[in-house]
Amino acid sequence: MPGEDDERGKERANRFDRRLRTFCRCNDVLFQIGSEQEALQSICKILTEDDEFRFAWIGYCEDDRDRTIRPVAKAGDGYVLERLWNSRGKTETGEGLAGFALGTGKPHWINDISTDPRAFGWGAAAVEAGYASCIALPLIAHNQQRGLIDLRGTLNLYSAEREFFDDTTVEHYMDLASCLTQAVAALRDDLANDLTSGVKSLRASEERKRAEDALQTARAELTRASRLTMMGQIAASIAHEINQPLAATIANGSAALRWLAKQPPDLEEAQVALNCVVADGHRAGQIIESVRAMFKQAPQAKILLDVNDLVREVLTLTRSEIQRHRVAVQTELMDGIPKALADRIQLQQVMLNLILNALEAMDAVTDRPRVLSIKSAIRDSKGVLIMVGDTGIGIEPQNMRRIFDSFFTTKLHGMGMGLSICRSIIETHGGSLSASSGDPHGTVFQVILPTNVE
Ligand code: ADP
Repeated sequence: MPGEDDERGKERANRFDRRLRTFCRCNDVLFQIGSEQEALQSICKILTEDDEFRFAWIGYCEDDRDRTIRPVAKAGDGYVLERLWNSRGKTETGEGLAGFALGTGKPHWINDISTDPRAFGWGAAAVEAGYASCIALPLIAHNQQRGLIDLRGTLNLYSAEREFFDDTTVEHYMDLASCLTQAVAALRDDLANDLTSGVKSLRASEERKRAEDALQTARAELTRASRLTMMGQIAASIAHEINQPLAATIANGSAALRWLAKQPPDLEEAQVALNCVVADGHRAGQIIESVRAMFKQAPQAKILLDVNDLVREVLTLTRSEIQRHRVAVQTELMDGIPKALADRIQLQQVMLNLILNALEAMDAVTDRPRVLSIKSAIRDSKGVLIMVGDTGIGIEPQNMRRIFDSFFTTKLHGMGMGLSICRSIIETHGGSLSASSGDPHGTVFQVILPTNVE
């Protein structure tokens, strides 16, 4: 009947129109694809709107023993989904439509679920849910170079209409499925590229970090080593020199005790022994003096040097120690400061010792910022001044005069030689080294070096 044909034609035209709009919307999604999951979900949603399909889901094939097809997106009424998602089965072509589509790489469809034998096992529930036709479209992308973007999945659509799928409809949806496959593969490819470059830059930054760490360790070791070398050499020579008078002191002291313990005590012999103890003590003192004098006579390689450069050098050398002690550094180095005639290595040792002492003095400080401040300035027409200040524990007034004495230390493992040597070095340069209390906390050491070149 012509009227009926007209109706059908109109309906077909409407459907075609709707499908076109649906595909346009799908295209939009795929064109702007940001995240894979979002895109898959949007496609399922669009396909179930406008009554095109009652239910849509996308499954990805897992590489597990049961070759599970795992649903990754779905929209519409998913009543039978539970029964479908494990259906790829044990054979190469699989079981169920999704399994067939994956196994063969071709679309598989059923135009009457209620009668088709391929719907055996799940058809009754599907009919009950209102589905009459369904199709599984393969989403398969091969990429030989990059295993990463291999895509194996299916797009599964369920319609309430029987005989929904003819060749043209299947072709349309195959086109859509292949657009979806390409978009996801391209996204994964981009991600893989991003990932590769991300991993590369991560590796580069890790390597840089390792190199920096190694540099810091080397610096810390250098700082410690140069301090220890100086101290070690001095300590060894002092120990060697002083051992003899010390051994004699002990022997004579013990002898004096023995004479005194006699009944009656032999005071004369005890006095002789004690005089020897005093003499040994003097000898030890002379030895220490001569060690200090060694610095005065040590050949110096004096050059005209910029004390600001020297400060910067030592700060670089001690950077890792400063960080380890969590100390902030403030410098006020005067521009164009006159050069001082000095031995660079010896002055480095002085600055190193003052800085390390300052860091140690701030270790116990927790209630205020730990700040190491170093300033340089012109002192007068004849000299420059370097000040090393800290916000540490400070020096007890009664100890202030003693800190430059040899062997004076308040530290458990201190040697008490650093400041005494520093003072000797500065004095042999014709300068002076002094200390005062910081305001309001800590200590300030002042090094004055002559600038007059004779
Ligand atoms: P050591 O560091 O082995 O003790 P030093 O001669 O370098 O030997 O220092 C002697 C003492 O002077 C230290 O034990 C410490 O009591 C005191 N001292 C030195 N520098 C500081 C400082 N910046 N703040 C507080 N005390 C200090």
